[in-house]
Amino acid sequence: MATCDDLYEQLHRLDGQGYGAYKSLRGEYAFEDFVLHIDHVQGDPFAAPSRVRVVVPQAVAGFPKDLWARPCRAIALADYLTRAFHGATQRQERGSGSGKSGQIGIVRPSQAVLERSAAKVTAAAVELRFTVGLPAFGRRIAGRQGAVLLCQAVPNLVKRTLVYEALDRGKIQRHVDTVEDAEALRSQLADHSLVAFVADGAILPRRSGVDERPLQDQAIPFKSPDALRVTLRCPHAGEVSGMGIPQGITLIVGGGYHGKSTLLRAIEAGVYNHVPDDGRHQVVTDPAAVKVRAEDGRSIAGVNISPFIGSLPQGKSTQAFSTPNASGSTSQAANIIEAIEAGATALLVDEDTSATNFMIRDRRMQALIAKDREPITPFIDKVRQLYTDYGISTVLVMGGSGDYFDVADTVVAMDEFVPQDVTERARSIAAQYKTERDREGGPQFGSLTPRIVQPDSIDPSKGRHSVKLRARDVDQLQIGTEAIDLSAVEQLVEPGQVRAIAEAIVYAQRHYMTATTPLAAAIAAVMADLGQHGLDSLTEWPMGDLVWFRGLELAAAINRLRTLQIG
Ligand code: ADP
Ligand code: MG
Repeated sequence: MATCDDLYEQLHRLDGQGYGAYKSLRGEYAFEDFVLHIDHVQGDPFAAPSRVRVVVPQAVAGFPKDLWARPCRAIALADYLTRAFHGATQRQERGSGSGKSGQIGIVRPSQAVLERSAAKVTAAAVELRFTVGLPAFGRRIAGRQGAVLLCQAVPNLVKRTLVYEALDRGKIQRHVDTVEDAEALRSQLADHSLVAFVADGAILPRRSGVDERPLQDQAIPFKSPDALRVTLRCPHAGEVSGMGIPQGITLIVGGGYHGKSTLLRAIEAGVYNHVPDDGRHQVVTDPAAVKVRAEDGRSIAGVNISPFIGSLPQGKSTQAFSTPNASGSTSQAANIIEAIEAGATALLVDEDTSATNFMIRDRRMQALIAKDREPITPFIDKVRQLYTDYGISTVLVMGGSGDYFDVADTVVAMDEFVPQDVTERARSIAAQYKTERDREGGPQFGSLTPRIVQPDSIDPSKGRHSVKLRARDVDQLQIGTEAIDLSAVEQLVEPGQVRAIAEAIVYAQRHYMTATTPLAAAIAAVMADLGQHGLDSLTEWPMGDLVWFRGLELAAAINRLRTLQIG
Protein backbone atom coordinates (compact mmCIF):
# COMPACT_ATOMS: atom_id res chain seq x y z
CA MET A 1 0.00 0.00 0.00
CA ALA A 2 1.19 3.52 -0.76
CA THR A 3 2.13 5.60 2.25
CA CYS A 4 1.60 9.12 3.48
CA ASP A 5 5.04 9.99 2.11
CA ASP A 6 4.11 8.69 -1.33
CA LEU A 7 0.97 10.83 -1.24
CA TYR A 8 3.00 13.84 -0.16
CA GLU A 9 5.43 13.42 -3.03
CA GLN A 10 2.70 12.73 -5.53
CA LEU A 11 0.92 15.95 -4.53
CA HIS A 12 4.07 17.96 -4.97
CA ARG A 13 4.58 16.39 -8.41
CA LEU A 14 1.02 17.39 -9.36
CA ASP A 15 1.55 21.02 -8.38
CA GLY A 16 0.62 23.34 -11.24
CA GLN A 17 -0.92 20.62 -13.42
CA GLY A 18 -4.49 20.70 -14.73
CA TYR A 19 -7.09 19.86 -12.09
CA GLY A 20 -8.03 16.57 -13.76
CA ALA A 21 -4.66 15.08 -12.78
CA TYR A 22 -5.95 14.86 -9.18
CA LYS A 23 -7.87 11.77 -10.32
CA SER A 24 -4.64 9.79 -9.97
CA LEU A 25 -4.94 10.12 -6.19
CA ARG A 26 -7.73 7.60 -5.91
CA GLY A 27 -6.65 4.78 -3.66
CA GLU A 28 -5.49 3.91 -0.17
CA TYR A 29 -2.61 5.37 1.81
CA ALA A 30 -1.10 4.02 4.98
CA PHE A 31 -0.49 6.84 7.44
CA GLU A 32 1.28 6.39 10.74
CA ASP A 33 -1.94 6.00 12.72
CA PHE A 34 -4.61 5.20 10.15
CA VAL A 35 -5.42 4.40 6.56
CA LEU A 36 -6.71 7.16 4.31
CA HIS A 37 -9.03 6.09 1.51
CA ILE A 38 -9.56 8.54 -1.32
CA ASP A 39 -12.76 7.11 -2.79
CA HIS A 40 -13.85 9.81 -5.18
CA VAL A 41 -11.99 12.76 -6.63
CA GLN A 42 -13.91 15.88 -7.66
CA GLY A 43 -13.72 16.93 -11.31
CA ASP A 44 -13.02 20.61 -10.67
CA PRO A 45 -12.50 22.92 -7.69
CA PHE A 46 -16.12 24.07 -7.74
CA ALA A 47 -17.71 20.62 -7.93
CA ALA A 48 -18.93 18.60 -4.94
CA PRO A 49 -15.78 18.02 -2.86
CA SER A 50 -13.83 14.76 -2.93
CA ARG A 51 -14.96 11.88 -0.73
CA VAL A 52 -12.46 10.35 1.64
CA ARG A 53 -12.44 8.00 4.64
CA VAL A 54 -10.06 7.40 7.47
CA VAL A 55 -9.90 4.04 9.22
CA VAL A 56 -8.24 4.22 12.61
CA PRO A 57 -7.55 0.81 14.18
CA GLN A 58 -8.74 0.42 17.77
CA ALA A 59 -5.13 -0.22 18.74
CA VAL A 60 -4.66 3.50 18.08
CA ALA A 61 -8.18 4.87 18.68
CA GLY A 62 -8.46 3.00 21.97
CA PHE A 63 -12.16 3.25 22.72
CA PRO A 64 -13.04 0.91 25.58
CA LYS A 65 -15.39 -1.90 24.66
CA ASP A 66 -18.03 -0.65 27.04
CA LEU A 67 -18.59 2.34 24.76
CA TRP A 68 -19.40 0.38 21.63
CA ALA A 69 -20.29 -3.19 22.56
CA ARG A 70 -24.07 -2.66 22.37
CA PRO A 71 -25.51 -1.35 19.09
CA CYS A 72 -27.20 1.71 20.60
CA ARG A 73 -23.98 2.66 22.38
CA ALA A 74 -21.92 2.22 19.21
CA ILE A 75 -24.33 4.54 17.38
CA ALA A 76 -24.11 7.08 20.19
CA LEU A 77 -20.30 6.94 20.19
CA ALA A 78 -20.17 7.33 16.41
CA ASP A 79 -22.55 10.28 16.76
CA TYR A 80 -20.26 11.84 19.36
CA LEU A 81 -17.21 11.45 17.12
CA THR A 82 -19.06 12.96 14.16
CA ARG A 83 -19.92 15.97 16.31
CA ALA A 84 -16.35 16.28 17.57
CA PHE A 85 -14.99 16.14 14.02
CA HIS A 86 -17.66 18.53 12.76
CA GLY A 87 -16.86 20.99 15.54
CA ALA A 88 -13.16 20.82 14.75
CA THR A 89 -13.71 21.40 11.02
CA GLN A 90 -15.76 24.50 11.85
CA ARG A 91 -12.73 25.95 13.63
CA GLN A 92 -10.35 24.96 10.85
CA GLU A 93 -8.66 27.60 8.69
CA ARG A 94 -9.46 26.98 5.06
CA GLY A 95 -6.54 28.73 3.41
CA SER A 96 -6.70 30.32 -0.02
CA GLY A 97 -7.54 28.89 -3.41
CA SER A 98 -10.46 28.65 -5.79
CA GLY A 99 -13.84 27.00 -5.24
CA LYS A 100 -13.90 24.60 -2.34
CA SER A 101 -10.10 24.52 -1.95
CA GLY A 102 -9.04 23.33 1.47
CA GLN A 103 -12.56 22.76 2.80
CA ILE A 104 -13.04 19.80 5.11
CA GLY A 105 -16.67 18.84 5.56
CA ILE A 106 -18.78 16.23 7.30
CA VAL A 107 -22.55 15.87 7.72
CA ARG A 108 -23.89 18.26 10.31
CA PRO A 109 -25.71 16.39 13.07
CA SER A 110 -29.00 17.77 14.39
CA GLN A 111 -30.07 17.48 18.03
CA ALA A 112 -30.98 13.86 17.33
CA VAL A 113 -28.54 11.02 17.83
CA LEU A 114 -28.83 8.92 14.70
CA GLU A 115 -26.99 6.20 12.89
CA ARG A 116 -25.08 7.92 10.10
CA SER A 117 -22.85 6.50 7.40
CA ALA A 118 -20.33 9.22 8.34
CA ALA A 119 -18.99 7.29 11.30
CA LYS A 120 -18.78 3.74 12.50
CA VAL A 121 -17.17 2.17 15.52
CA THR A 122 -16.43 -1.54 15.66
CA ALA A 123 -14.15 -3.84 17.60
CA ALA A 124 -11.59 -3.43 14.84
CA ALA A 125 -11.59 0.26 14.03
CA VAL A 126 -13.15 3.68 13.96
CA GLU A 127 -14.10 4.77 10.46
CA LEU A 128 -14.97 8.33 9.58
CA ARG A 129 -16.13 9.58 6.20
CA PHE A 130 -15.90 13.18 5.15
CA THR A 131 -15.11 15.40 2.20
CA VAL A 132 -12.14 17.52 1.25
CA GLY A 133 -11.95 20.26 -1.33
CA LEU A 134 -8.73 19.48 -3.17
CA PRO A 135 -6.99 22.84 -3.53
CA ALA A 136 -6.41 24.74 -6.73
CA PHE A 137 -5.49 28.15 -7.99
CA GLY A 138 -7.84 28.77 -10.83
CA ARG A 139 -7.99 25.31 -12.37
CA ARG A 140 -4.39 24.42 -11.62
CA ILE A 141 -3.59 21.97 -8.87
CA ALA A 142 -2.22 23.61 -5.73
CA GLY A 143 -0.11 20.59 -4.81
CA ARG A 144 1.68 21.99 -1.79
CA GLN A 145 -1.60 23.12 -0.27
CA GLY A 146 -2.98 19.69 -1.08
CA ALA A 147 -0.11 18.10 0.80
CA VAL A 148 -0.72 20.33 3.81
CA LEU A 149 -4.41 19.47 3.72
CA LEU A 150 -4.12 15.71 3.40
CA CYS A 151 -0.81 15.05 5.15
CA GLN A 152 -1.10 17.57 8.00
CA ALA A 153 -4.61 18.92 8.55
CA VAL A 154 -6.34 15.56 8.23
CA PRO A 155 -3.92 13.67 10.54
CA ASN A 156 -4.25 16.51 13.05
CA LEU A 157 -8.02 16.28 13.01
CA VAL A 158 -7.83 12.52 13.41
CA LYS A 159 -5.52 12.85 16.41
CA ARG A 160 -7.75 15.40 18.06
CA THR A 161 -11.16 13.88 17.43
CA LEU A 162 -10.90 10.13 16.84
CA VAL A 163 -8.53 9.04 19.57
CA TYR A 164 -10.00 8.29 22.99
CA GLU A 165 -7.05 9.75 24.88
CA ALA A 166 -7.57 13.15 23.30
CA LEU A 167 -11.26 13.39 24.07
CA ASP A 168 -13.29 14.29 27.15
CA ARG A 169 -14.06 10.92 28.75
CA GLY A 170 -16.80 12.25 30.99
CA LYS A 171 -18.64 13.82 28.08
CA ILE A 172 -18.41 10.68 25.95
CA GLN A 173 -19.67 8.53 28.80
CA ARG A 174 -22.60 10.87 29.37
CA HIS A 175 -23.44 10.96 25.66
CA VAL A 176 -23.48 7.21 25.34
CA ASP A 177 -25.28 6.61 28.64
CA THR A 178 -27.96 9.20 27.85
CA VAL A 179 -28.77 7.45 24.59
CA GLU A 180 -28.89 4.04 26.23
CA ASP A 181 -31.21 5.45 28.89
CA ALA A 182 -33.53 6.87 26.25
CA GLU A 183 -33.61 3.47 24.55
CA ALA A 184 -34.46 1.88 27.88
CA LEU A 185 -37.24 4.37 28.53
CA ARG A 186 -38.73 3.84 25.09
CA SER A 187 -38.61 0.09 25.45
CA GLN A 188 -40.77 0.33 28.59
CA LEU A 189 -43.58 2.28 26.93
CA ALA A 190 -45.46 -0.74 25.62
CA ASP A 191 -45.31 -2.59 28.98
CA HIS A 192 -46.90 0.41 30.64
CA SER A 193 -49.43 0.85 27.81
CA LEU A 194 -48.02 4.26 27.01
CA VAL A 195 -47.67 6.14 23.74
CA ALA A 196 -45.12 8.58 25.12
CA PHE A 197 -43.23 9.61 28.22
CA VAL A 198 -42.11 13.13 29.09
CA ALA A 199 -39.72 13.28 32.03
CA ASP A 200 -40.10 15.80 34.79
CA GLY A 201 -37.60 18.58 34.26
CA ALA A 202 -37.53 18.22 30.48
CA ILE A 203 -37.08 21.43 28.52
CA LEU A 204 -39.46 21.30 25.57
CA PRO A 205 -39.40 24.74 23.90
CA ARG A 206 -36.74 25.48 21.27
CA ARG A 207 -34.80 28.69 20.79
CA SER A 208 -36.60 29.60 17.61
CA GLY A 209 -38.32 28.18 14.59
CA VAL A 210 -34.94 27.79 12.93
CA ASP A 211 -32.83 26.89 15.96
CA GLU A 212 -33.45 23.44 17.39
CA ARG A 213 -31.38 23.96 20.52
CA PRO A 214 -33.29 24.25 23.81
CA LEU A 215 -34.69 27.60 24.88
CA GLN A 216 -32.50 28.82 27.70
CA ASP A 217 -33.37 31.18 30.57
CA GLN A 218 -37.11 31.64 30.14
CA ALA A 219 -37.91 27.96 29.67
CA ILE A 220 -40.28 26.45 32.21
CA PRO A 221 -39.22 22.85 32.93
CA PHE A 222 -41.81 20.16 32.40
CA LYS A 223 -43.72 18.90 35.42
CA SER A 224 -46.13 15.99 35.19
CA PRO A 225 -49.58 16.18 36.73
CA ASP A 226 -49.70 13.71 39.65
CA ALA A 227 -52.47 11.63 38.10
CA LEU A 228 -50.38 10.87 35.00
CA ARG A 229 -47.02 10.46 36.67
CA VAL A 230 -45.21 7.19 36.10
CA THR A 231 -41.76 6.12 37.16
CA LEU A 232 -39.55 4.19 34.77
CA ARG A 233 -36.12 2.74 35.33
CA CYS A 234 -33.05 3.24 33.24
CA PRO A 235 -29.59 1.72 33.53
CA HIS A 236 -27.65 4.93 34.19
CA ALA A 237 -29.97 7.66 35.47
CA GLY A 238 -31.86 5.15 37.64
CA GLU A 239 -35.50 6.01 38.33
CA VAL A 240 -36.97 8.69 36.12
CA SER A 241 -40.47 10.00 36.66
CA GLY A 242 -42.62 12.01 34.34
CA MET A 243 -45.89 12.14 32.46
CA GLY A 244 -47.04 8.99 30.76
CA ILE A 245 -49.41 9.51 27.85
CA PRO A 246 -51.60 6.41 27.87
CA GLN A 247 -52.59 4.47 24.79
CA GLY A 248 -56.04 5.37 23.52
CA ILE A 249 -57.13 8.90 22.76
CA THR A 250 -55.43 11.80 24.47
CA LEU A 251 -56.43 15.42 24.05
CA ILE A 252 -54.07 18.25 24.76
CA VAL A 253 -56.17 21.35 25.43
CA GLY A 254 -55.46 24.81 26.81
CA GLY A 255 -55.42 28.46 25.85
CA GLY A 256 -53.52 29.77 22.87
CA TYR A 257 -49.78 30.17 23.48
CA HIS A 258 -49.82 27.93 26.55
CA GLY A 259 -47.47 25.33 25.12
CA LYS A 260 -49.73 22.73 23.46
CA SER A 261 -47.93 22.49 20.14
CA THR A 262 -44.55 22.57 21.86
CA LEU A 263 -45.52 19.49 23.87
CA LEU A 264 -46.74 17.71 20.75
CA ARG A 265 -43.55 18.58 18.85
CA ALA A 266 -41.46 17.13 21.66
CA ILE A 267 -43.54 13.95 21.41
CA GLU A 268 -42.99 13.87 17.62
CA ALA A 269 -39.24 14.19 18.19
CA GLY A 270 -39.38 11.45 20.83
CA VAL A 271 -39.17 8.76 18.15
CA TYR A 272 -35.45 9.68 18.09
CA ASN A 273 -32.84 9.84 20.84
CA HIS A 274 -31.25 13.18 21.61
CA VAL A 275 -27.98 14.61 22.81
CA PRO A 276 -27.61 15.04 26.60
CA ASP A 277 -28.17 18.82 26.66
CA ASP A 278 -31.18 18.77 24.40
CA GLY A 279 -33.79 19.06 27.13
CA ARG A 280 -35.80 16.33 25.39
CA HIS A 281 -33.31 13.55 25.97
CA GLN A 282 -35.76 11.83 28.32
CA VAL A 283 -38.80 12.42 26.14
CA VAL A 284 -39.55 9.18 24.33
CA THR A 285 -42.34 8.11 22.04
CA ASP A 286 -43.70 4.95 20.46
CA PRO A 287 -41.21 4.41 17.60
CA ALA A 288 -44.08 4.04 15.13
CA ALA A 289 -45.85 7.29 16.06
CA VAL A 290 -46.54 9.50 13.06
CA LYS A 291 -47.37 13.16 12.85
CA VAL A 292 -50.18 13.67 10.37
CA ARG A 293 -51.47 16.92 9.03
CA ALA A 294 -53.39 18.51 6.21
CA GLU A 295 -51.39 19.03 3.03
CA ASP A 296 -53.55 20.49 0.31
CA GLY A 297 -52.05 20.30 -3.15
CA ARG A 298 -50.29 16.98 -2.65
CA SER A 299 -50.87 14.14 -5.07
CA ILE A 300 -52.56 10.91 -3.97
CA ALA A 301 -52.35 7.56 -5.75
CA GLY A 302 -55.05 4.97 -5.30
CA VAL A 303 -55.65 5.32 -1.56
CA ASN A 304 -58.79 3.91 0.02
CA ILE A 305 -59.89 6.98 1.96
CA SER A 306 -63.50 5.76 2.19
CA PRO A 307 -63.42 5.47 6.01
CA PHE A 308 -63.25 9.28 6.05
CA ILE A 309 -64.52 10.42 2.68
CA GLY A 310 -67.63 8.99 1.07
CA SER A 311 -69.18 9.67 -2.32
CA LEU A 312 -67.60 12.75 -3.83
CA PRO A 313 -69.24 15.11 -6.33
CA GLN A 314 -69.38 13.61 -9.84
CA GLY A 315 -69.33 10.12 -8.38
CA LYS A 316 -65.52 10.05 -7.92
CA SER A 317 -64.45 6.86 -6.15
CA THR A 318 -62.84 7.08 -2.76
CA GLN A 319 -61.98 3.37 -2.48
CA ALA A 320 -58.97 3.98 -4.70
CA PHE A 321 -58.71 7.71 -4.64
CA SER A 322 -56.24 9.50 -6.88
CA THR A 323 -55.71 13.17 -7.43
CA PRO A 324 -52.85 15.45 -8.44
CA ASN A 325 -54.24 18.17 -6.18
CA ALA A 326 -55.81 17.08 -2.91
CA SER A 327 -57.92 19.31 -0.72
CA GLY A 328 -57.12 19.91 2.94
CA SER A 329 -59.50 17.20 4.15
CA THR A 330 -58.71 14.56 1.50
CA SER A 331 -54.98 15.09 2.02
CA GLN A 332 -55.31 14.63 5.77
CA ALA A 333 -57.43 11.52 5.25
CA ALA A 334 -54.83 10.08 2.85
CA ASN A 335 -51.99 10.94 5.22
CA ILE A 336 -53.69 8.96 7.96
CA ILE A 337 -54.56 5.95 5.82
CA GLU A 338 -51.06 5.84 4.31
CA ALA A 339 -49.46 6.07 7.75
CA ILE A 340 -51.56 3.13 8.91
CA GLU A 341 -50.63 1.18 5.79
CA ALA A 342 -46.95 1.79 6.57
CA GLY A 343 -47.33 0.51 10.12
CA ALA A 344 -48.11 3.54 12.30
CA THR A 345 -49.32 2.58 15.77
CA ALA A 346 -50.00 6.11 16.99
CA LEU A 347 -51.10 9.31 15.29
CA LEU A 348 -50.01 12.77 16.40
CA VAL A 349 -52.33 15.55 15.24
CA ASP A 350 -52.25 19.30 15.85
CA GLU A 351 -55.23 21.53 15.21
CA ASP A 352 -52.78 24.17 13.92
CA THR A 353 -52.01 22.02 10.89
CA SER A 354 -55.32 20.22 10.43
CA ALA A 355 -58.26 20.86 8.12
CA THR A 356 -61.15 22.10 10.29
CA ASN A 357 -63.80 20.26 8.27
CA PHE A 358 -61.80 17.06 8.66
CA MET A 359 -61.61 17.41 12.43
CA ILE A 360 -65.12 18.53 13.44
CA ARG A 361 -68.69 18.92 12.25
CA ASP A 362 -70.93 20.28 14.93
CA ARG A 363 -74.64 19.91 15.63
CA ARG A 364 -75.62 23.05 13.79
CA MET A 365 -73.68 22.15 10.68
CA GLN A 366 -75.18 18.68 10.75
CA ALA A 367 -78.60 20.34 10.78
CA LEU A 368 -77.83 22.69 7.91
CA ILE A 369 -75.87 20.34 5.63
CA ALA A 370 -77.42 16.88 5.64
CA LYS A 371 -75.11 13.88 5.93
CA ASP A 372 -75.83 12.84 2.33
CA ARG A 373 -74.50 16.20 1.10
CA GLU A 374 -71.26 15.98 3.09
CA PRO A 375 -68.72 13.39 1.94
CA ILE A 376 -66.52 13.83 5.00
CA THR A 377 -66.90 11.76 8.12
CA PRO A 378 -64.97 13.87 10.59
CA PHE A 379 -62.04 12.46 12.54
CA ILE A 380 -63.99 12.85 15.79
CA ASP A 381 -66.33 10.08 14.61
CA LYS A 382 -63.52 7.68 13.62
CA VAL A 383 -60.80 8.24 16.19
CA ARG A 384 -62.35 5.78 18.68
CA GLN A 385 -62.88 3.06 16.05
CA LEU A 386 -59.28 3.48 14.94
CA TYR A 387 -58.22 2.48 18.42
CA THR A 388 -60.72 -0.31 19.05
CA ASP A 389 -60.41 -1.90 15.58
CA TYR A 390 -56.70 -1.41 14.90
CA GLY A 391 -55.13 -0.46 18.23
CA ILE A 392 -53.95 2.88 16.88
CA SER A 393 -53.77 5.59 19.51
CA THR A 394 -54.13 9.30 18.85
CA VAL A 395 -52.59 12.27 20.63
CA LEU A 396 -54.45 15.36 19.54
CA VAL A 397 -53.87 19.03 20.25
CA MET A 398 -57.32 20.58 20.26
CA GLY A 399 -57.93 23.90 21.96
CA GLY A 400 -60.80 24.79 19.65
CA SER A 401 -63.50 22.15 20.12
CA GLY A 402 -64.84 20.58 23.30
CA ASP A 403 -66.83 18.12 21.19
CA TYR A 404 -63.77 15.85 21.45
CA PHE A 405 -64.34 15.40 25.22
CA ASP A 406 -66.83 12.68 24.30
CA VAL A 407 -64.21 10.51 22.65
CA ALA A 408 -61.12 11.19 24.79
CA ASP A 409 -59.66 8.78 27.34
CA THR A 410 -57.32 11.38 28.77
CA VAL A 411 -57.45 15.15 28.68
CA VAL A 412 -54.35 17.19 29.50
CA ALA A 413 -54.69 20.95 29.84
CA MET A 414 -51.62 23.12 29.30
CA ASP A 415 -51.77 26.10 31.61
CA GLU A 416 -48.87 28.53 31.31
CA PHE A 417 -46.71 25.63 30.05
CA VAL A 418 -47.67 23.38 32.98
CA PRO A 419 -49.80 20.34 32.19
CA GLN A 420 -52.85 19.49 34.32
CA ASP A 421 -54.92 16.35 34.20
CA VAL A 422 -58.46 17.58 33.50
CA THR A 423 -59.94 14.26 32.35
CA GLU A 424 -62.61 14.15 35.08
CA ARG A 425 -63.64 17.75 34.61
CA ALA A 426 -63.87 17.33 30.86
CA ARG A 427 -66.07 14.29 31.44
CA SER A 428 -68.49 16.05 33.71
CA ILE A 429 -68.64 19.01 31.35
CA ALA A 430 -69.41 16.61 28.51
CA ALA A 431 -72.25 15.15 30.59
CA GLN A 432 -73.57 18.58 31.50
CA TYR A 433 -73.43 20.19 28.06
CA LYS A 434 -74.39 17.60 25.49
CA THR A 435 -73.14 18.28 21.98
CA GLU A 436 -76.31 16.68 20.54
CA ARG A 437 -74.28 15.67 17.54
CA ASP A 438 -75.20 12.64 15.49
CA ARG A 439 -72.36 10.19 15.47
CA GLU A 440 -71.51 9.68 11.84
CA GLY A 441 -68.71 7.16 11.98
CA GLY A 442 -70.61 3.86 12.25
CA PRO A 443 -69.52 0.97 14.47
CA GLN A 444 -66.33 0.17 12.54
CA PHE A 445 -63.44 2.20 11.25
CA GLY A 446 -63.70 0.63 7.81
CA SER A 447 -61.45 -1.60 5.79
CA LEU A 448 -57.89 -0.89 4.78
CA THR A 449 -56.76 -1.75 1.27
CA PRO A 450 -53.09 -2.66 0.72
CA ARG A 451 -51.68 -1.12 -2.43
CA ILE A 452 -49.20 -2.46 -4.95
CA VAL A 453 -46.99 0.13 -6.62
CA GLN A 454 -46.34 -0.24 -10.34
CA PRO A 455 -42.53 -0.47 -10.28
CA ASP A 456 -42.05 1.43 -13.53
CA SER A 457 -43.97 4.42 -12.18
CA ILE A 458 -40.80 5.22 -10.24
CA ASP A 459 -38.19 6.41 -12.72
CA PRO A 460 -34.90 7.62 -11.34
CA SER A 461 -33.35 8.22 -14.76
CA LYS A 462 -32.69 11.63 -16.16
CA GLY A 463 -31.64 11.88 -19.77
CA ARG A 464 -28.53 9.80 -20.31
CA HIS A 465 -27.73 9.68 -16.60
CA SER A 466 -29.05 6.43 -15.22
CA VAL A 467 -29.85 7.69 -11.76
CA LYS A 468 -30.07 11.21 -10.51
CA LEU A 469 -30.86 11.82 -6.88
CA ARG A 470 -30.68 15.06 -5.01
CA ALA A 471 -31.56 16.12 -1.52
CA ARG A 472 -30.22 19.35 -0.12
CA ASP A 473 -32.54 19.92 2.82
CA VAL A 474 -35.24 18.11 4.75
CA ASP A 475 -38.07 19.49 2.64
CA GLN A 476 -37.46 18.10 -0.80
CA LEU A 477 -35.86 15.36 -2.76
CA GLN A 478 -35.34 14.90 -6.43
CA ILE A 479 -35.55 11.55 -8.11
CA GLY A 480 -34.90 11.57 -11.84
CA THR A 481 -36.87 14.52 -13.15
CA GLU A 482 -39.40 14.39 -10.33
CA ALA A 483 -39.31 16.50 -7.19
CA ILE A 484 -40.96 15.16 -4.05
CA ASP A 485 -42.20 17.75 -1.59
CA LEU A 486 -41.54 16.56 1.96
CA SER A 487 -42.37 19.74 3.82
CA ALA A 488 -45.42 18.09 5.41
CA VAL A 489 -43.41 15.06 6.54
CA GLU A 490 -42.50 16.72 9.78
CA GLN A 491 -40.50 14.05 11.58
CA LEU A 492 -37.56 14.25 9.19
CA VAL A 493 -34.78 16.10 11.00
CA GLU A 494 -31.63 15.84 8.85
CA PRO A 495 -30.97 16.27 5.13
CA GLY A 496 -29.00 13.01 5.25
CA GLN A 497 -32.22 11.17 6.03
CA VAL A 498 -33.73 12.56 2.86
CA ARG A 499 -30.65 11.56 0.87
CA ALA A 500 -30.87 8.06 2.26
CA ILE A 501 -34.58 7.91 1.49
CA ALA A 502 -33.85 8.91 -2.12
CA GLU A 503 -31.42 5.98 -2.34
CA ALA A 504 -33.91 3.72 -0.60
CA ILE A 505 -36.67 4.50 -3.08
CA VAL A 506 -34.43 3.38 -5.94
CA TYR A 507 -33.29 0.37 -3.94
CA ALA A 508 -36.87 -0.64 -3.13
CA GLN A 509 -37.86 -0.27 -6.75
CA ARG A 510 -34.91 -2.38 -7.97
CA HIS A 511 -35.05 -5.14 -5.40
CA TYR A 512 -38.50 -5.48 -3.95
CA MET A 513 -41.25 -3.85 -5.96
CA THR A 514 -42.99 -6.41 -8.12
CA ALA A 515 -46.45 -6.69 -9.59
CA THR A 516 -47.53 -8.69 -6.53
CA THR A 517 -45.68 -7.08 -3.61
CA PRO A 518 -47.72 -4.75 -1.44
CA LEU A 519 -46.01 -1.43 -0.74
CA ALA A 520 -45.80 -2.17 2.99
CA ALA A 521 -43.99 -5.46 2.33
CA ALA A 522 -41.49 -3.81 -0.01
CA ILE A 523 -40.72 -1.18 2.60
CA ALA A 524 -40.40 -3.77 5.35
CA ALA A 525 -37.90 -5.66 3.18
CA VAL A 526 -35.79 -2.54 2.64
CA MET A 527 -35.81 -1.77 6.35
CA ALA A 528 -34.81 -5.34 7.16
CA ASP A 529 -31.78 -5.05 4.85
CA LEU A 530 -30.90 -1.75 6.45
CA GLY A 531 -31.17 -3.25 9.91
CA GLN A 532 -28.91 -6.12 8.94
CA HIS A 533 -26.31 -4.51 6.72
CA GLY A 534 -26.56 -0.83 7.62
CA LEU A 535 -26.90 2.24 5.43
CA ASP A 536 -24.15 1.04 3.07
CA SER A 537 -26.52 -1.55 1.65
CA LEU A 538 -28.30 1.30 -0.15
CA THR A 539 -25.35 2.43 -2.24
CA GLU A 540 -22.74 0.86 -4.49
CA TRP A 541 -19.91 2.93 -2.98
CA PRO A 542 -19.35 3.84 0.63
CA MET A 543 -21.03 7.23 1.08
CA GLY A 544 -20.62 9.50 4.07
CA ASP A 545 -23.82 11.47 3.88
CA LEU A 546 -26.60 8.99 4.64
CA VAL A 547 -28.59 9.08 7.84
CA TRP A 548 -30.99 6.53 9.30
CA PHE A 549 -34.69 7.02 8.69
CA ARG A 550 -37.88 5.11 9.48
CA GLY A 551 -39.85 3.00 7.03
CA LEU A 552 -42.72 5.37 7.80
CA GLU A 553 -40.87 8.28 6.23
CA LEU A 554 -39.74 6.16 3.29
CA ALA A 555 -43.40 5.31 2.66
CA ALA A 556 -44.34 8.98 3.03
CA ALA A 557 -41.82 9.94 0.34
CA ILE A 558 -42.96 7.23 -2.08
CA ASN A 559 -46.58 8.27 -1.52
CA ARG A 560 -45.76 11.83 -2.53
CA LEU A 561 -44.14 10.91 -5.82
CA ARG A 562 -46.36 12.50 -8.44
CA THR A 563 -45.75 9.80 -11.03
CA LEU A 564 -46.77 7.01 -8.65
CA GLN A 565 -49.20 4.49 -10.10
CA ILE A 566 -50.99 1.76 -8.20
CA GLY A 567 -51.29 -1.60 -9.94
P1 ADP B 1 -49.93 26.74 21.71
O1 ADP B 1 -49.80 25.60 20.76
O2 ADP B 1 -50.59 26.35 22.99
O3 ADP B 1 -50.59 27.94 21.11
P2 ADP B 1 -47.04 26.86 21.61
O4 ADP B 1 -46.67 25.50 21.98
O5 ADP B 1 -46.94 27.25 20.19
O6 ADP B 1 -48.48 27.24 22.15
O7 ADP B 1 -46.11 27.80 22.51
C1 ADP B 1 -46.21 29.21 22.47
C2 ADP B 1 -44.84 29.81 22.77
O8 ADP B 1 -44.43 29.49 24.09
C3 ADP B 1 -43.73 29.32 21.86
O9 ADP B 1 -42.93 30.43 21.51
C4 ADP B 1 -42.96 28.34 22.70
O10 ADP B 1 -41.59 28.29 22.33
C5 ADP B 1 -43.13 28.90 24.09
N1 ADP B 1 -43.09 27.83 25.10
C6 ADP B 1 -43.65 26.61 25.00
N2 ADP B 1 -43.41 25.87 26.09
C7 ADP B 1 -42.66 26.65 26.93
C8 ADP B 1 -42.07 26.44 28.21
N3 ADP B 1 -42.20 25.27 28.86
N4 ADP B 1 -41.36 27.45 28.74
C9 ADP B 1 -41.24 28.62 28.09
N5 ADP B 1 -41.75 28.87 26.88
C10 ADP B 1 -42.46 27.91 26.29
MG1 MG C 1 -50.45 25.50 18.75
